[in-house]
Amino acid sequence: MSMGYVQAEAIVSRVDRERCSGCKSCDMVCPYGAIQFDEEGIAEIIVAACKGCGTCGSICPEKAITMTHYTDEQLAAEAIAALEEVRT
Ligand code: SF4
Ligand code: SF4
Repeated sequence: MSMGYVQAEAIVSRVDRERCSGCKSCDMVCPYGAIQFDEEGIAEIIVAACKGCGTCGSICPEKAITMTHYTDEQLAAEAIAALEEVRT
């Protein structure tokens, strides 16, 4: 911050606006206060404050939160590839 800028984490969470119900569960568990809500009550990630811990994503009842580079599809593909490696 003293350098005049904040370097964001490579992995941060992001919210799917279509899924978010505005329940605020994510806000209650975020240890870094990195979640705010827009005028419609939809969660928004403060990228500069997010540390990419994933806590918000694990608690979201609507599965509206994903981590950059770690979507369910990407994790499933990694698991399948690892299993294929074990089988050969
Ligand atoms: S926990 Fe999920 S549904 Fe609830 S406010 Fe956060 S992103 Fe929206
Ligand atoms: S990933 Fe962690 S730090 Fe980032 S918004 Fe979610 S709970 Fe907060």
